Amino acid sequence: MSTLDLRQPESPAVPILHPGDAGWDASRQVFNLLVDQQPTAIACPGDEREVAAAIGYARRRGLRVTAQSTGHNAGPLGALDGTLLLNTSRLTDLSIDPAGHRVRVGAGLKWEHVVPRLSELGLAALHGSSPDVGIVGYTLGGGVSWLARRHGLQCNAVQALEVVTADGELVRTDSSCEPELFWALRGGGGSFGVVTAVEFAVQPVEELYAGALFFPAGRASEVLHTWHGLLPCLPDELMTWTALMNFPPEEAIPAPLRGRAFTVVTGAFLGKAAVGRDLLRDLVALGPEIDTFATVPPVGLSELAMDPPLPLPYRTGHQLVGALPPKAIDEFVAAVDMRPGAPLAIAQLRHMGGALGRPPSGAGAVATLPGELCVLGVGVVTDEASSRAVDAALEGVTASLADHRVGYYANFVEEPADARQFFDESTWARLRRVKRAYDPTDLIRGNHPIPAGRGK
Ligand SMILES: Cc1cc2nc3c(=O)[nH]c(=O)nc-3n(C[C@H](O)[C@H](O)[C@H](O)COP(=O)(O)OP(=O)(O)OC[C@H]3O[C@@H](n4cnc5c(N)ncnc54)[C@H](O)[C@@H]3O)c2cc1C
Repeated sequence: MSTLDLRQPESPAVPILHPGDAGWDASRQVFNLLVDQQPTAIACPGDEREVAAAIGYARRRGLRVTAQSTGHNAGPLGALDGTLLLNTSRLTDLSIDPAGHRVRVGAGLKWEHVVPRLSELGLAALHGSSPDVGIVGYTLGGGVSWLARRHGLQCNAVQALEVVTADGELVRTDSSCEPELFWALRGGGGSFGVVTAVEFAVQPVEELYAGALFFPAGRASEVLHTWHGLLPCLPDELMTWTALMNFPPEEAIPAPLRGRAFTVVTGAFLGKAAVGRDLLRDLVALGPEIDTFATVPPVGLSELAMDPPLPLPYRTGHQLVGALPPKAIDEFVAAVDMRPGAPLAIAQLRHMGGALGRPPSGAGAVATLPGELCVLGVGVVTDEASSRAVDAALEGVTASLADHRVGYYANFVEEPADARQFFDESTWARLRRVKRAYDPTDLIRGNHPIPAGRGK
């Protein structure tokens, strides 16, 4: 039996909050403090029956439903008027099958709840740069991890999803049960139902060598050119990012970094330290000021990127670009202002490619991501002046590599966008057919919405 009818009569047994209720502000808190969600109501279900009750509640009142765990990608949703926000944070089931290299997590869990447990078992998940990100939202949008060049996207590590559909049925979907829904959810985002749990494969890790090389920001050109020259020779087992990073003068920042700007090469290598060191030798030969590379357990990847742990007000921009000529590196470096107090906290190039460019068999809606590099910028916005400065700086970084753009990655888009840009034409048409089959009245609202297709 793969489906269960969870439709409830009137009087839902799910806690529903309204503006002013205790817990209202905490339940609508998102990661980007520039986003102020004001939904009509908030449901905080504790299990799949309560999820179905919340969906029924919304339907009867003419509200739409949007599911959210951490709000790391809340920007595209806007204010949420006429919408029931379904906060999944109480869905916290976790079971690990160490021998089968398989995990089942409730939709409220973040990577930080799972990665340390897996690490103790010598297992690694395909999580991203921040342990604070929600597993389900990350997974539905694709999921680019430190191990992505070797193991591909997290969405394609998924083995099953438990979903309450717009008409209140609980469906456990996998490659043989409701396969179109299974396909669409893996990369197509949160438009097709409310996911209550996800099962996915994790990777046994024998040796992992990871860390960061910090150079003074003024050495950006030589460091980036050296890194760029290495890329064609690097194996899929190694993922590296190079970033210009401006660390704020705050107590929470380690003293050697506090208030300074650096050019940082960060990397994770699935293999022995000596081999990893050799692959990075041209960079090491440049003489970094700080070198943190070491053999680490899988949990060592959680904080590797030094992402901010707490919500903050920011704006971000990104693009996927093809292989760059050396001149483009010069243009990128010239576009990034890294003087103290400069608008961007980070301007980053992530090495993509490898398994990210090879469709795995049985892949979901996002099988691969185009391009060799992902260019990402983030700036903190505290007032009108910083808002203008950050926007201009992001535009400058984007423009410097715009000629090489090959696409966008949905999870990195934090503003309202036409979701069509994330998919090719036939994938888009197929996603719209799935939306029509499972939610023809568009009750469920994803952050990057897929509209229902017309006809069959
Ligand atoms: C600091 C930071 C670091 C990041 N690093 C990476 C990275 O390294 N790699 C990467 O790939 N991405 C990264 N991201 C992007 C991240 O993957 C997306 O923001 C992702 O959408 C976050 O998922 P969430 O559940 O935390 O956020 P949420 O805002 O809670 O969810 C995002 C969307 O997912 C859908 N959704 C969430 N839960 C459900 C559910 N239960 N059922 C149905 N739909 C649901 C909804 O459409 C929701 O709007 C990062 C983002 C930030 C802010």
